[in-house]
Amino acid sequence: MPSNENVPSLSPDAFRDEAERFLRSIAGEFAGAAGGAGQDPPSDRIAAVEELGEGYDQQFKRARELQARLFDAGLAWPSGPSDLGGRGLSREHDQVLDDLLAELDLPSREVLFVGLRIVAPAVDAHGGPELRKRTLPALHRADLIGCQLFSEPGAGSDLAGVTTRAVRDGDDWILTGQKVWTSIAHLADVGEALVRTDPGTSRHGGLTMFLVDMHAPGVTVRPIRQMTGGVAFNEVFLDGVRVPDAHRIGAVGDGWRVAGTSLGSERNFMIGDDGPVSPYVLERLTAMVGRLDTAADPVLRQEIARAVAAIVAMRASADLPDGSWGHRLEPVSGSVLKMLMTRAVDGIAALAGEALGERAFTDRGERDTFAWSEFVLGAPALHIAGGTDEIQLNIIAQRGLGLPRPPKPATQPAAT
Ligand SMILES: Cc1cc2nc3c(=O)[nH]c(=O)nc-3n(C[C@H](O)[C@H](O)[C@H](O)COP(=O)(O)OP(=O)(O)OC[C@H]3O[C@@H](n4cnc5c(N)ncnc54)[C@H](O)[C@@H]3O)c2cc1C
Repeated sequence: MPSNENVPSLSPDAFRDEAERFLRSIAGEFAGAAGGAGQDPPSDRIAAVEELGEGYDQQFKRARELQARLFDAGLAWPSGPSDLGGRGLSREHDQVLDDLLAELDLPSREVLFVGLRIVAPAVDAHGGPELRKRTLPALHRADLIGCQLFSEPGAGSDLAGVTTRAVRDGDDWILTGQKVWTSIAHLADVGEALVRTDPGTSRHGGLTMFLVDMHAPGVTVRPIRQMTGGVAFNEVFLDGVRVPDAHRIGAVGDGWRVAGTSLGSERNFMIGDDGPVSPYVLERLTAMVGRLDTAADPVLRQEIARAVAAIVAMRASADLPDGSWGHRLEPVSGSVLKMLMTRAVDGIAALAGEALGERAFTDRGERDTFAWSEFVLGAPALHIAGGTDEIQLNIIAQRGLGLPRPPKPATQPAAT
């Protein structure tokens, strides 16, 4: 049963008070982790996507510790059912908690987002009772770290082209194939794997979703280093990996629908308060520009206003009540919001690069300067992650506006 069918018994305001009291009581243990006052020198890290650069092991450890503290206090998953470690409250309570965590000086949990925001919602909505019981509390406590095994060398935008095979063998399935661009696979315990169980049926109908043990024999993870210097991605090879049928998420042949749950939740995360255009980023941007000697530059001031307007427009659009997008745009509002988000991030990255100039790329030990390099270099990735810009525009054009599908490219004649 999905976890949002509970009746809230605690008002969001009362919940906020309770959560705030608890978070403030533990803030000292994590002092300095997110840039506020504390015993350690406060970090000035600012990233568009989590890059897992230098010192990430410490960052990862702190995020896990925080998540465990939240879980043990009944604050990791407010909308989840109480028998799985939740509180039986509403999605609004989840939002209250996310807002609070963004405001306080606590470690970023972004490194956990794949398990919490991509894998867990799919298991919650489509997994059987046993799988839900075994994995949801562990994912929400960050005892289990999750990754998303969707993309393949020949299947990214065209995700229905997945060729990793799963063949039934008694109570198990045997998985063989290759995945790529798998964020945090090198840290993960479980992977949500979209695979082909029936090559004979339709491209979408032949897919099934499994939860794979990343420590099982036959799983090989190879990290990919990117231009930021971090190692967030991996190639994952599945060579005859045995997965119990009990670890299937949803029905055989229903993998496309399960993937839709994960992708929808991923896009919601990207436009939310924990995402790359959070109130925290906006605050850091205005503080940084305000301190610079170029703050009086009229062009720069206009650009700040433009970047802020883009963020405000995105956030206002995200907060629109159900139905206000109109019957044609409603199913594609996620794609519209993702486009608004990437444009807002581009505006911030361009502005930070321009305002800081060379200071953004040479570390002189000055606060709030070099720290922006991670944001500027990470921004282009958001045009690709969670579905590329071109694919979002195709979705808006076809499903939202009813325009015809683009013509297929002509086949090139074979070279002689
Ligand atoms: C930061 C980040 C994190 C990621 N994390 C994960 C992860 O954890 N797990 C995972 O499975 N994947 C992950 N990905 C992969 C991501 O989902 C894919 O990169 C994305 O879906 C695009 O697929 P592709 O790279 O194969 O590009 P392609 O699909 O090969 O696209 C190449 C170019 O062609 C364009 N194109 C393709 N088809 C069309 C079309 N029909 N019309 C117009 N243009 C088209 C695309 O827009 C793009 O510009 C991540 C990517 C990034 C950047």
